Amino acid sequence: MELQCKVQNYDWGKLGLDSTVAKLLSSAHPDIAIDPSKAYAELWMGTHPNGPSMIIERGVLLSEYIKDNLDAIGPEVRKKFGVTVPFLFKILSIRKALSIQAHPKKEHAEELHKNFPDMYKDPNHKPELAIALTPFEALCGFRPLVEIQNFLKKLPEVANMLSKESIDNFLAQQEQGDSQIVLKPVFHSLMTSDKTVVASTLKALLERLEKEDVPTQSSLLYPLLKRLHNDFPGDVGCLSPYFMNYMLLNPGQAIFLKPNLPHAYLSGDCVECMACSDNVVRAGLTPKHIDVPTLVDMLDYSSYAQEQLLFNPQLEDCNSCVWRPPVPDFAVVRIKVESGDSYNTQNRSSPSLIIITSGQGEACDTEPVAAKPGVVIFLKASRQLTLTPAEGHHLEVYQAICNV
Ligand SMILES: [Zn+2]
Repeated sequence: MELQCKVQNYDWGKLGLDSTVAKLLSSAHPDIAIDPSKAYAELWMGTHPNGPSMIIERGVLLSEYIKDNLDAIGPEVRKKFGVTVPFLFKILSIRKALSIQAHPKKEHAEELHKNFPDMYKDPNHKPELAIALTPFEALCGFRPLVEIQNFLKKLPEVANMLSKESIDNFLAQQEQGDSQIVLKPVFHSLMTSDKTVVASTLKALLERLEKEDVPTQSSLLYPLLKRLHNDFPGDVGCLSPYFMNYMLLNPGQAIFLKPNLPHAYLSGDCVECMACSDNVVRAGLTPKHIDVPTLVDMLDYSSYAQEQLLFNPQLEDCNSCVWRPPVPDFAVVRIKVESGDSYNTQNRSSPSLIIITSGQGEACDTEPVAAKPGVVIFLKASRQLTLTPAEGHHLEVYQAICNV
């Protein structure tokens, strides 16, 4: 069943046909005009009330349809999650940074929702998986201690802004020091710095780095700092690349954002899947409220090398691979079918949301659908979709499923 999906025009999205979201939308629905000055940030596939998908041929919301068609969800998923699609599947096209954030784990989300229902609107966790479709920039997890120490030694402007006790203790740590213990006071000090002090520190730092030679500028992340500061002047989050890993993913590479892991998407296009929740604790690069006590307390202060943060898929067969995070809510499958070949998707006990990202041909469940980029299909549990590329073409699709 083909779906009509909601586009979100958040202002950080890529503009017009620069955006993969807009390209997919216009490919699947040529009648929709793309406005070159408008931001096409996200395509939402699923039943989330803020952007529910609709079954085109029936003119009903997918969320309504599944209530009357329990077989669509299947007994296993129903038992675990109820009559719902327990994940939200998205395409993101990012022009400027999204806020630095972390998401609480399940028990913590329940507690936050109970105590602060206005700020934390649901009791669910929100693990996320992002798979790059184009070169994709992100900040993710804290850096190895020695890297943060080096930055702080070379950036006295930043070090001087932090409490002397936290910074002295931090710089004295050996490489094997416990980052959970020594990094937290430094980060706390950073997040509670006076706003005017942060703004003047950023100003002083930018003025100095501007005069440095290019290799020094590059090693001290001046181009990134300048870019972030242009979009978020005076924001403490501009300093986060000195504390967090700056990752550049190639298409097909992925990161899994487990609970409490700080992250921010900076630019590029990706496929994203997440548990159904809006629980975000922000840490900068945002005009929105930052809940500093909750944030500082919950974060995962472990140091990660970049390789540890890359999340690799497993091969399922010659055509498909799956990113299977350690949560029951979702997994994402990528399927490639070459010209002259045909492929039946694997039989899953879960409902699927499937988007064609490139190629052309036919996708057949009970009725054939013309498969072209941007076409989104809902597949009931325990059904298989037959993918047949047109002559001389291939097909590439992403399929979100429950991880049960
Ligand atoms: Zn997130």
